[in-house]
Amino acid sequence: MFQWRFDNAFVRDLPGDPEQGIGLRQVEGALYSRVDPTPVAAPRLLAHSAEMAAVLDLSEADVRSAEFARVFGGNLLLDGMQPYAANYGGHQFGHWAGQLGDGRAISLGEVINAAGERWELQLKGAGLTPYSRGADGRAVLRSSVREFLCSEAMHHLGVPTTRALSLVGTGEPVLRDMFYDGNAATEPGAIVCRAAPSFIRFGNFELPASRGDVGLLQQLVAFTIERDYPELTGSGEALYAEWFAQVCERTATMIAHWIRVGFVHGVMNTDNMSILGLTIDYGPYGWVDNYDADWTPNTTDAQRRRYRFGQQPDVAWWNLSRLAGALAPLFADVAPLQVGLDRYAAAYAAADRRNIAAKLGLAECRDDDVVLMQSLQALMQQAEIDMTLWFRALGEVDRNTPTLAPMHDAFYDEAKRREAEPALNDWLTRYAARLAADALTPEQRREQMRLANPRYVLRNYLAQQAIDRAMQGDAEGIAELLDVMRRPYDDQPGREAFAQKRPDWARHKAGCSMLSCSS
Ligand code: AMP
Ligand code: MG
Repeated sequence: MFQWRFDNAFVRDLPGDPEQGIGLRQVEGALYSRVDPTPVAAPRLLAHSAEMAAVLDLSEADVRSAEFARVFGGNLLLDGMQPYAANYGGHQFGHWAGQLGDGRAISLGEVINAAGERWELQLKGAGLTPYSRGADGRAVLRSSVREFLCSEAMHHLGVPTTRALSLVGTGEPVLRDMFYDGNAATEPGAIVCRAAPSFIRFGNFELPASRGDVGLLQQLVAFTIERDYPELTGSGEALYAEWFAQVCERTATMIAHWIRVGFVHGVMNTDNMSILGLTIDYGPYGWVDNYDADWTPNTTDAQRRRYRFGQQPDVAWWNLSRLAGALAPLFADVAPLQVGLDRYAAAYAAADRRNIAAKLGLAECRDDDVVLMQSLQALMQQAEIDMTLWFRALGEVDRNTPTLAPMHDAFYDEAKRREAEPALNDWLTRYAARLAADALTPEQRREQMRLANPRYVLRNYLAQQAIDRAMQGDAEGIAELLDVMRRPYDDQPGREAFAQKRPDWARHKAGCSMLSCSS
């Protein structure tokens, strides 16, 4: 097994920290530190992604082998692996935070699979690194289950994301103060193996720029373009400008997908922004149940709500402008970077319109349709309507006899439903009139809506139920939930329980609506 070919470009082509060991330090002039995972007491495979295993040319037998749990628990290195922790900085909650780095993530190496694709494998929770900053380098089971499930759920939803190969229990306890309120307790530890073509973040560029190390910055930019954007040609400033514009476009695409499916990242710090426009670092993320543009699942951000659902497009722009600031020393004049940021705005606006057309089932989005969507969102927020259930059911509305009946289950509050009913009926009348003027046939419209409006999303309480079972020693709930999330746009008879609105008990329960950064 594991006949992998490694091509560890990052550690081969970029300067590393000459100092060895896990001592905490400021690492200057280098983009990573070599560090091995710290072995764990009893690595045990709790779940894996069959799709990701297949991408990596692994058989089921490979995955089930004892060797697999040892490798992905951090106890065994394969020939060709060169583990490292990356050195990066970042803006956290709007402020420059200096050097951060991989404090608990350790990349094992870059696999080139049989199809010729590059997949970097990275363990999250694999032990101390020079960047652990006083923390323990570990991850708890609950947050690892969440990262594992959401990575794969997002992939199946068609959202650009890092992937997850495996979830391995460590057999070791981890001490966490879940709500930072002085109530620390031990929890089971776990490690996710993440996979992505690149784990480079905005913060990787920001750190050398912040130190005035333009040579190192330039080296990283050239490397990133060559390895991660091989389709780009040209040289010098023009190449850098086109690359930055591509980063902007990809980020716009990613954010538009989040808005389409109701995903809130929760911690959009620049160290959590992928240079490939992939959703990365699943922490206190959440899924919108009742539509609320102001909602954030992150209790650490509950006061200012910087990273609330509806603000994500603006935050992405702000993060891109931090990246632009970091790249500025490579340009004689910053105008090309401004062009890139403008590309973000244009790409996001276009993607938003595509979302509107797709979610409402229209051949194209006209100016009036933007208003139509906005007025729907305002009503959904007032009336406490479940976003996923509403849009899925909206496809069943007959344009000749529009009624609210298909959306009956989407309401959380009976009094608010009754109050909003007249306005919602008005809205439906406008919507039906708009459909009558649209080029799509009813069948085409229904099909388009089914592909844009998932039936199943990884609702916070569903993930929490799988976590509760896993904490009792039953990991099957993780596999079951993943199996549902594999086909989020299909109706799956017998699995209606996974397509319900959030139950009342989950409304204010920890893990279901409130999450902290403690993981
Ligand atoms: P996050 O908010 O999870 O993206 O983490 C921000 C920074 O804190 C990153 O540099 C992480 O590597 C680091 N970090 C988070 N949790 C731990 C931990 N348990 N041990 C070491 N470093 C951590
Ligand atoms: Mg992070």
